[in-house]
Amino acid sequence: MTAVEIPPLRSSATFRNWAGNQMCVPREILRPDSVTEVAAIVRRAAEGGLTVKAVGAGHSFTDAACTTGILLSLDRLDAVESIDAASGRVTAQAGIRLDALSRRLDEAGLAMPNLGDIARQSVAGATATATHGTGLGLGNLATTIVGMDIVDGRGELVHCDEHERPELLRVARVGVGALGIVTRLTLQCVPAFDLHSSETTEPLEGLLDDFENHMAGHDHMEFFWVPGSRHAHVKRNNRTGEPRRPQPALQRARDKLLYENVVFGLANRTIRRFPSSLPAVARMTRGAVVRRDYIDASHRVFVSRRFVRFYEMEYAVPREALPEAVRRIDSLVKGLSAPVTFPVEVRVSAADDIPLSTGYGRDSGWFACHMYKGTPYLAYFQGVEAIAADYGGRPHWGKLHFHDHRSLAPLYPEWDRFQRVRSELDPSGTFANSYTDRVLGPIA
Ligand SMILES: Cc1cc2nc3c(=O)[nH]c(=O)nc-3n(C[C@H](O)[C@H](O)[C@H](O)COP(=O)(O)OP(=O)(O)OC[C@H]3O[C@@H](n4cnc5c(N)ncnc54)[C@H](O)[C@@H]3O)c2cc1C
Repeated sequence: MTAVEIPPLRSSATFRNWAGNQMCVPREILRPDSVTEVAAIVRRAAEGGLTVKAVGAGHSFTDAACTTGILLSLDRLDAVESIDAASGRVTAQAGIRLDALSRRLDEAGLAMPNLGDIARQSVAGATATATHGTGLGLGNLATTIVGMDIVDGRGELVHCDEHERPELLRVARVGVGALGIVTRLTLQCVPAFDLHSSETTEPLEGLLDDFENHMAGHDHMEFFWVPGSRHAHVKRNNRTGEPRRPQPALQRARDKLLYENVVFGLANRTIRRFPSSLPAVARMTRGAVVRRDYIDASHRVFVSRRFVRFYEMEYAVPREALPEAVRRIDSLVKGLSAPVTFPVEVRVSAADDIPLSTGYGRDSGWFACHMYKGTPYLAYFQGVEAIAADYGGRPHWGKLHFHDHRSLAPLYPEWDRFQRVRSELDPSGTFANSYTDRVLGPIA
């Protein structure tokens, strides 16, 4: 195998993800300025038998974006190329971050129909792993894709949309980084909207007993519950035409920065160091949970800043199985030796037809389990994964799990369809890494 010379645009030795639990030393880290450069890099890498991996914002908890080959950051390909306000169709380069995209959409009177908890991810990275928010009728972010440009394993630019190669579009929207380098996406956006956000604390049992009605009653509902506690922090966001009442800046700083980050981070550090301090710390921080009620632009309501670093696992199960699964997580945690101080986040999302989407063919109930960075999580996450398995649970592609392709394939009815597209676009495995080797297996 002869290595070809690829001129480094800028390189540094090490890549670390947001949580700090994944690290790799790529041969080079390149930041191309154009699609032509992306194609040239892939072509030369393929000729030289090197692998290439795109990285977005590095916010996956798995090694999805790690490589010992060439790591390609699309941070410089972050332009919004066209906005058609009438149809709501927006074409952007793949490296744009969701928060920057939301600001541009807002200026044009548009918005993403839904977002997750944060918006620091790149649009290509978020959609590649089927990143989702909450809402009974809302699919994950990849379901908004109506057009894609992908540099395939031969270094050729492939386009797909609903007229040109529609079947490729259907499959490629959730590609787990394995189909090629996505360089451009066209998204179906919606007219900008405001949300009335109401946050309360409620008994967990009531939320689980009447789960379907709770979720059906609101455009976006979710709750956070610390296992062992009988109460959950509930967020309900509903579309409204009422005048805006944004959170006052000081109150927002107090809630989002001081309580959710500084106090919470300090509490977790203390418990990590002195596990026996858990009951005292829990008593002291209980007052930090407050009621909130405000109206603001959707993209500001959906997301928060997260400064406290953690590890996360998230599972999608058939929605009707969610309450039972959550009750079982509660029992599991009671039997663990290490305390769980981070909440479990419960959300819902709609079914779609994307072969590797966690929402393929079924409405999902989600539970996301978190552990403070640096604390042991294996027993907890493995226990949760065993519970999820009883309901045919599908792990979030960007979050920690212990599956491999042998156990994942039966969970996805169109697994082979995805694999055929993969072998067509990337016959030589140019986009493989240890994550795709594990979760997708060898290229047929
Ligand atoms: C604090 C925090 C909060 C989060 N909240 C949510 C949430 O609310 N909902 C949710 O569903 N998830 C959430 N996530 C998970 C996150 O959205 C996903 O892991 C997402 O993939 C990260 O996007 P990224 O841009 O950082 O991609 P990366 O992690 O950098 O990459 C993810 C995958 O996408 C591939 N990729 C990236 N760019 C390209 C490209 N141009 N072409 C082809 N492949 C590409 C990579 O190779 C890799 O396989 C959260 C993560 C964190 C750290």
